[in-house]
Amino acid sequence: MSNYVFVIDPDKQPCNPVHPAKAQLLLNQKKAAVFRRYPFTIILNEKQKDVEANPLTLKIDLGSQTTGIAILNGENVVWGAELAHRGQQIKSDLESRRAIRRNRRNRKTRYRPARFLNRKREKGWLAPSLQHRVDTTLTWIKKLIRYCPVTNIVQELVRFDLQKMENPEISGIEYQQGELQGYEVREYLLEKWNRQCAYCGAKNIPLQIEHIHPKSKGGTNRISNLCITCEPCNLAKGTQDIKDFLSGKPSILKRVLSQAKSPLKDAAAVNSTRWALLNALKSIGLPISTGSGGQTKFNRTRLNLPKTHWIDAACVGTIESLRIITKQPLLIKATGHGCRQMCRTDKFGFPSRYVPRLKFIKGFQTGDIVKAIVTSGKKIGTYVGRVAVRCSGSFNISTPQLIQGIGHKYCRAIHRKDGYSYSF
Ligand SMILES: [Zn+2]
Repeated sequence: MSNYVFVIDPDKQPCNPVHPAKAQLLLNQKKAAVFRRYPFTIILNEKQKDVEANPLTLKIDLGSQTTGIAILNGENVVWGAELAHRGQQIKSDLESRRAIRRNRRNRKTRYRPARFLNRKREKGWLAPSLQHRVDTTLTWIKKLIRYCPVTNIVQELVRFDLQKMENPEISGIEYQQGELQGYEVREYLLEKWNRQCAYCGAKNIPLQIEHIHPKSKGGTNRISNLCITCEPCNLAKGTQDIKDFLSGKPSILKRVLSQAKSPLKDAAAVNSTRWALLNALKSIGLPISTGSGGQTKFNRTRLNLPKTHWIDAACVGTIESLRIITKQPLLIKATGHGCRQMCRTDKFGFPSRYVPRLKFIKGFQTGDIVKAIVTSGKKIGTYVGRVAVRCSGSFNISTPQLIQGIGHKYCRAIHRKDGYSYSF
């Protein structure tokens, strides 16, 4: 079954979400109308009387690629979503802009005084690709609160152990006796080595912690001296030196040694974005509680639930049990609002093709989701999908296939472009 449907009253105040069948009934009886397509929201014709709002909990698991969001009514998970970020896209866009500017300044050799190191960064500054994660997640939380009577928020705050996790390899915390418990170290190492054997790449088998420089020869318990291997590899290596063990495979040796030294980048970045989100959430004014990644995983394995981002979100914090009512989370992908580029270049870097100045053609813009009911001509039929506008007024609609040449007069917008794409 799909997500519950959000309901708002004529004053646009959020009411309790309803079962999709109930929403369909309300729509059929003309007691409500569709207010918004994504997330699916209906607006009632008349104000409800004597209906108490359920205390709903919004749970968030902010990740590096994807954020899981779940809405719970008690122990029932009634709504779920996964929000895919576009951090990588932002990073590469900024890098290409930097390259273009550098190139131009080099070509036009006017004198420029040295300007590096004269810029200040505000406290709490995050790289644009990370700030974007916080911003989009916050936007969605605010959006959900508008359509759904949320009374408290639960956020997963730390992925591994403690505040000190920022850089365990430099602060030299040793496992076993340090602040890091065995469980957290294992989780950290699994993440760092991509849950596969460092030496042979085997996956989905029991993995063991292995000392790169053997303990018997003076190797330490520091995290930078540990990796994850399968049992056969661990036994085969025994107390050999890594250089002897991998003497026949120089490329693997090089990779293992460099990967061992580099700390898990993602973990530090994820932690800083989570703190930033927590601070931003305080401005909403709802009670917020936090949980840790270990707790989430404990809940998920105890309840025997699959590992997806939105179910992880539902498992955040202290819970007794969960009933997953919805099976179809809304998949949201951040696509951005397009670029300001005025002109494209050919493969030699010369200006070649102009980007059309007009974004709106006949009231539509590229990215709107439209429904086209074509009643005459070769393309008779009904099409729903993302539209690409053309100046001629003859549009393309991407349903699973691309349908070209649909006249604008057949189109009706069902969801205006808002910087996200949606699927189930
Ligand atoms: Zn192996």
